[in-house]
Amino acid sequence: MDWTNAEVSHSVPTEQRLAKARASLVCKLPEAGLGEAWTQEHLLGEIAPGFTSSSRCASYFAYTTGAVTDAALFADWVASTYDQNVAVHLPSESVATKLESVTLRLLQQLLGFDEDVFVGRIFTTGATASNLLGLALGREFVVAEAGRRKTVNATPHSSLYKAAAVLGLGRDSVLALPRSEDETWKFDLEALEAKLADGASIVSVSAGEVSSGKFATDGQDMQRIRDLADKYGAWVHVDGVTFGLQARVLPHTESYRHLTDGVSNLELADSLAGDCHKLLQTPYDCGFFFTRHLDVQQCVFRNPNAAYLSATPSQIPSPLNIGLENSRRFRALPVYATLLAYGRPWYRELLEGQIALARRIARYIVDSDAFELLPNDNFAEVYMVVLFRAKDAKLNESLVARINTDTRIHVSGLPGGWRGKPAARIAVGSWRVEGEREFTLIVDILETVVRESMTT
Ligand SMILES: *Cc1c(COP(=O)(O)O)cnc(C)c1O
Repeated sequence: MDWTNAEVSHSVPTEQRLAKARASLVCKLPEAGLGEAWTQEHLLGEIAPGFTSSSRCASYFAYTTGAVTDAALFADWVASTYDQNVAVHLPSESVATKLESVTLRLLQQLLGFDEDVFVGRIFTTGATASNLLGLALGREFVVAEAGRRKTVNATPHSSLYKAAAVLGLGRDSVLALPRSEDETWKFDLEALEAKLADGASIVSVSAGEVSSGKFATDGQDMQRIRDLADKYGAWVHVDGVTFGLQARVLPHTESYRHLTDGVSNLELADSLAGDCHKLLQTPYDCGFFFTRHLDVQQCVFRNPNAAYLSATPSQIPSPLNIGLENSRRFRALPVYATLLAYGRPWYRELLEGQIALARRIARYIVDSDAFELLPNDNFAEVYMVVLFRAKDAKLNESLVARINTDTRIHVSGLPGGWRGKPAARIAVGSWRVEGEREFTLIVDILETVVRESMTT
C-alpha cells in the first residue's frame, strides 16, 4: 500500500479487510523489538487497510470531517520531525511561538475577525477544547455573581455539555432553548431574555448546527443577543465549528445571503471556537480559540509556579498561560502551510464548489419521487449538509445502511432522527470533491437503493 495522500475510491474498508486488520494486531508486548522495517510493513500493509478513507476518498460524506491538503500533510510531517514544544515563548531559541501567533492572525484575517480586538488567541486540540475555554472564561467573567451560571444555546452541540461537565458547571447547566416555531434553527430571543432574567449568564451560539448546517442567528439576532448580554452581564460564546465560520469567506451575493447573514456580527461575541481540521482541511487535531478578553484568559489559565515562565517582555503570551496544556504540539505549522500554499481564493472556491454540490443533491432529492428533503424543500438555502429521508417508511428504516453497502460512498444518519423518524445526512466536507463525479455517483447509488428496495 502506498502512503501518499493520493485519492482512493473506497470510503470505508470492507468487513473482510477490517477483520484482517484486527487479526493482525499484536496484543502481547514482544520480548524483543520487531524492528523498524517489520513495523512499517505491519502499519502500511496490515493496519492501514482497516482505516476509513475519510480524508482520501472524495465521497466520504459521513459525520462532519474535512480531509487533509497536501501542504498541511507535508507541514505536519515537518512538525513531527522537528517536534517543537510550543509551550513557552522563547524568542531567542525558536521561531515557533512567533509562527503560531502569526498564523492565528492569518486565520483571523481569513475569517474576518479584527486582530486588534480578538487579542486572545490560541490553537487547541479541537473545538471541544475551544468550547471548554469559552465556558471557562465565561464562568470567570460572571463568577462575581454567584449562582448565575447557566448556559443557554438554541442548538447545543454535544461537546458543550461535556465542557460544562468538565468545568464542574454540570451538564444540566446547559439549557437548550426551544427552536422557534417555523422549523428553522433560530434562537428564540424572547426565551433567551427570560432565561437571562432568571439567572443564566453564558450565552452560547451555534454558528452552524452540526446535523443540518443551519444557523441559529443572523446579524440582527447577534446584535440583539449582544445587547441582552450587556444588559444582564452575560458572556457570549460562539461555537462556529460545523463549517460555520468558514461561511465568512463567501462573497456577499444573493445565493449565499442566507449563509452570510448567518455568520454576520459574530464578531460581537466575547469568545469564539472553531477548528482547522474541519474548516481548513488540516490533519487532526487542531482547534482554535479567539477572545477579546486576554486578561480573563490569563486569569483562568496562568501557570503561576514555573520559574522558567518569566517570558521576555513581548506581545506574545506563552501559550501555557492562555490555554489548557503545558507541552503542546506545533499545530500552527500545518495551518500556516495550507493558508500560504492555497490562499483565500482557493478556500472560497472550494466552499462554493461544496455548496454547489450539496444544493445539486438537495435539488435532486426535492425532484425525486422517492425522497424528501429536510427540514423543507428549500434547496437554495442548503449549506454543506443535505438532510433527507425516504418517503417509504420501510425503506427509510434501512436507508443509511442500504446506501452504505456500496463502499464507494459513506453517509451517516441523524442521531435521534428528524421529528422521530430516521433521516440520512450527506455532509460535503472534503476538498477532493469535483462536483459532477460525486453527483453522478450519489444519484446512481440512491437509484439503486430505491430499485433494490422494491424487490426485497
Ligand atoms: C465537530 C464539532 C464540535 C467538536 O469539535 P472537535 O473539534 O471534534 O472537538 C463542536 N461543535 C460543533 C458545532 C461541531 O460540529
